[in-house]
Amino acid sequence: MRLVVIGGVAAGLSAAARARRLDPSLEIIVLERGRHVSWAACGLPYFIEGQVRSVEQLTVYTAEYLSRERNIQVRTETEATAISHGRREVALRGGERIRYDKLVIATGASPDQGALEPGERVFTLTTLEETERLGRWLSERRPRTAAVVGAGYIGLEAATALRARGLRVTIFEAAPEVLGREDPELTEWTRKHLERFGVELRLRTRVPEVGGFDLVVLGSGVKPNSGLAMEAGIEIGRTGAIRVTERMETNLTSVYAAGDCAETTHLVTGAPAYIPLGTTANKMGRVAGANAAGRRERFPGVTGTSLVRVCGIAIGLSGLSIAQARRAGFEPVSARIEHADKASYFRGRPCAVELVADRRTRRLLGGAVVGENEVAGRVNTIAAALTARLTVDAFEHLDLAYAPPYSPVWDPLLIAAQQLMKLLD
Ligand SMILES: Cc1cc2nc3c(=O)[nH]c(=O)nc-3n(C[C@H](O)[C@H](O)[C@H](O)COP(=O)(O)OP(=O)(O)OC[C@H]3O[C@@H](n4cnc5c(N)ncnc54)[C@H](O)[C@@H]3O)c2cc1C
Repeated sequence: MRLVVIGGVAAGLSAAARARRLDPSLEIIVLERGRHVSWAACGLPYFIEGQVRSVEQLTVYTAEYLSRERNIQVRTETEATAISHGRREVALRGGERIRYDKLVIATGASPDQGALEPGERVFTLTTLEETERLGRWLSERRPRTAAVVGAGYIGLEAATALRARGLRVTIFEAAPEVLGREDPELTEWTRKHLERFGVELRLRTRVPEVGGFDLVVLGSGVKPNSGLAMEAGIEIGRTGAIRVTERMETNLTSVYAAGDCAETTHLVTGAPAYIPLGTTANKMGRVAGANAAGRRERFPGVTGTSLVRVCGIAIGLSGLSIAQARRAGFEPVSARIEHADKASYFRGRPCAVELVADRRTRRLLGGAVVGENEVAGRVNTIAAALTARLTVDAFEHLDLAYAPPYSPVWDPLLIAAQQLMKLLD
């Protein structure tokens, strides 16, 4: 029995590794068109900032290691150009054909760069090579100004990194809000915060003239690499990504899809969602690999949890903003509070929390946490509550930890829940 995996990063290698663990007899071949496998795009902004010394540090496993230690055959610089499911074959650039019994498509996503193409002074932050090129350019040319296209998390991380290298940075965002969140207050807070750090945020503004800046970084989101699947007759969802079941099955028998090329379910709305993130790619890949190896595992979906560092402050988001909740048919109410994130005698720093709930059912629908400390823990608590479909009434009584160096006796999450309760009563 042979499993072929197309794509050798988070989703593809999670699938291959899990299948190998469950079935030592399976022949596993991973096809990767790039030169590297198993590397962490999430670390690229920190290479630009200087916190990661070399891009090699971002590579977790090499093709040689996977072959030697895991018995997974990884073929780099090998592009799949077509899938012929009738013959159970993948065609490669160059003409070779590879037969499969099970197939996992983990082709990821590509930057949605719009009008600007990467070029001499225009960079993306999506491959090791491009990021290294940007790193060299910064060291050799010593530019003074940079334009960043997009105020999603990649754009904000890129702006933070470039500012830390001393550049004057302007972010251009076509939408009226940051982080795709439809949250004017969060946007205004972010704009002011960036301004304090010398980064200008221009909203509702299209791609800048390259001429006005020493360099441009494209960070304007990604689109799923679903073309190969579509041409093979695999169903594409409304989001433009590959439609899969909870078991990561496509509409073709024995063909699975996972990661940034596939859609999933939003656990708050129940609707298909495309929220491409590394966390999700790993989980979807693991489930696809298990099922390809004969198990019956499921990945129920996401609450859309993300975390980004913007000039020293962390922004954590999960679930829906009030505008998104309204559009999804809820009757949302929200409360926003600011409170110290630890006891005052431990130099607590401000922590802002917003919670959104449905007036009819009192169910929690989303939340945002902004601060310097413990933001991941707090937003993860919101994610857990959303997954468990907690009401605000239940959330208000969560037994959250307290010790003065880490939190105040009333955690900011619970204070926000109390405020929200007042609006629901
Ligand atoms: C700058 C940056 C920062 C990020 N930060 C975070 C973060 O902090 N947290 C987080 O959760 N996520 C983050 N992400 C997102 C995360 O990196 C992705 O969600 C994750 O890499 C998706 O994994 P994947 O395996 O689905 O796709 P990819 O990583 O895109 O890998 C797909 C692979 O498939 C290969 N491929 C495509 N088509 C073919 C073909 N036809 N034949 C052969 N090979 C093919 C591609 O070359 C690619 O290597 C970040 C992304 C970027 C760019």
